[in-house]
Amino acid sequence: MADENISKNFIEQAIDEDLAEGKYSKVVTRFPPEPNGYLHIGHAKSIILNYGIAKEYGGKFNFRFDDTNPTKEKTEYVQSIIDDIKWLGADFGDEVLFASNYFDEMYEAAVKLIKKGKAYVCDLTADEIREYRGTLTEPGKNSPYRDRSIEENLELFEKMKNGEFEDGSRVLRAKIDMTSPNINMRDPILYRVARMTHHNTGDAWCIYPMYDFAHPIEDAIEGISHSLCTLEFEDHRPLYEWVVNELEYPQPPRQIEFAKLYLTNVVTGKRYIKKLVDDGIVDGWDDPRLVTLSALRRRGFTPESIKKFMELVGISKSQSSVDYAMLEYCIRDDLKPKANRMMAVLDPIKLIIDNYPEDKTEYFEIENNQENEELGTRQVSFSRELYIDREDFMEIPPKKYFRLFPGNEVRLKGAYFVKCVDFKKDEDGKITEIHCTYDPETRSGSGFEGRKVKGTIHWVDAKNAVTAEVRLYENIVDEEKGKLNEDGTLNLNPNSLTVLKDCKLEAAFKDAKKGDSFQFIRHGYFCVDSKDTTDDRLVFNRIVSLKSSYKPN
Ligand code: ATP
Ligand code: MG
Repeated sequence: MADENISKNFIEQAIDEDLAEGKYSKVVTRFPPEPNGYLHIGHAKSIILNYGIAKEYGGKFNFRFDDTNPTKEKTEYVQSIIDDIKWLGADFGDEVLFASNYFDEMYEAAVKLIKKGKAYVCDLTADEIREYRGTLTEPGKNSPYRDRSIEENLELFEKMKNGEFEDGSRVLRAKIDMTSPNINMRDPILYRVARMTHHNTGDAWCIYPMYDFAHPIEDAIEGISHSLCTLEFEDHRPLYEWVVNELEYPQPPRQIEFAKLYLTNVVTGKRYIKKLVDDGIVDGWDDPRLVTLSALRRRGFTPESIKKFMELVGISKSQSSVDYAMLEYCIRDDLKPKANRMMAVLDPIKLIIDNYPEDKTEYFEIENNQENEELGTRQVSFSRELYIDREDFMEIPPKKYFRLFPGNEVRLKGAYFVKCVDFKKDEDGKITEIHCTYDPETRSGSGFEGRKVKGTIHWVDAKNAVTAEVRLYENIVDEEKGKLNEDGTLNLNPNSLTVLKDCKLEAAFKDAKKGDSFQFIRHGYFCVDSKDTTDDRLVFNRIVSLKSSYKPN
């Protein structure tokens, strides 16, 4: 039983009622992706919901591929989906289920309906079926084939299965009500003839069941108690119930709908993501600008941050969009106490300390994370030549600029005070080198109180700096400018990716491994790219900057 003290969402309330009435003895949920693309953040909502409910009620969570439609399905997608679900930590007991393994039962279920006089073979063409169906305001008309005898239907359906009819020439339809106000109930198609090779069953079948018929059967076979799906299936629920009731399953599953998750400033929806991949606009389904789960993982999002995000979003019945900044808030919150805070210079410029001995190196002990002592400390080397970020120096500073400029003194984080005494420029006026002097009295940890400085900047020892490529991201679409152009194509942000090739990182980064995350002091959180990093190339993705544009209401 769920904890009575926390307020429950409408799905938990419905489940509580069902259990109280004894409708089900055990809660069984499922996540049924169609293997026609990679999973995205919206799917994570469904996974976390279904898995969470099963866990909360001490039930079971099934992971099943809804692979009854062979046209778009690919084995590549099957593997990526398995990896993503494991990564999210939804435990499906290592049993991957496939709807296509139930093709025999689905066929038998169709035969059962025919025998009950509840299904018939129809010879109308697709256009005629559409015409006979009527509209939202006009009722449909009965097919002239609706009153075929059970024997004739059985014989024709078997011939459909045996490949005796052309593709599209005949269908099996449910016999429900052509005048129903719900168009889904106007004798929907259950089976069609289609010669397509299936990724699991090969050429064993030339008839395939329609989703609205197959899905309730899959649920019933697995003993699903609560079939949680998104709102677009609300109008299909009467058909779902018709199927499980006519097939007389002892504990028919119950369909409950919830609102899909939409995010602003990103592209959700497999159709758009696939187009970006196919058009080569992004570097595959796991491009860090996408919100597929593999992209989020590569970018450096953690399963914990995604779960936290889903908790904040909650479950509802009304459609709305959530700001992407809220997801960023969640990963920042997750990494804050976990990630080491280290120094990285993204746009390096040399800083030379004129009065520091050339062959000397000293070490400073710096805490890895001021908010989490458990992460310990590290030794950071310091010598005469350092790198600092170009933006931390200005020849002619504006008001309130407290970083380096000629004559000004700043603190080098964890080390000494330095004062700018000179700088050099190239022919184009670009600053090439900054000269400083340091004051040995101001050594960090020495308790120096002689004078204060307003600015602290980070630095990297040039002697042993690690060179890395760093990728900075902006949203791939800008919601405020409109996600779509007039012609329906995506209005892409041309600045969504910035590549910095020659960043300088402190020496401790030489041990960074694929997938490791760090805070680069003042720059944000970064993750070692797992795709492009090699033994002699270190690539980082910026997960998120330090500052938030998200304001919790
Ligand atoms: P898309 O619209 O992106 O193509 P889909 O709904 O076609 O997604 P499926 O593989 O059919 O993708 O979905 C598997 C499950 O995930 C379904 O139960 C579906 O309702 C759920 N789901 C899909 N998108 C979302 C979303 N944005 N929010 C919550 N659940 C979703
Ligand atoms: Mg779908």
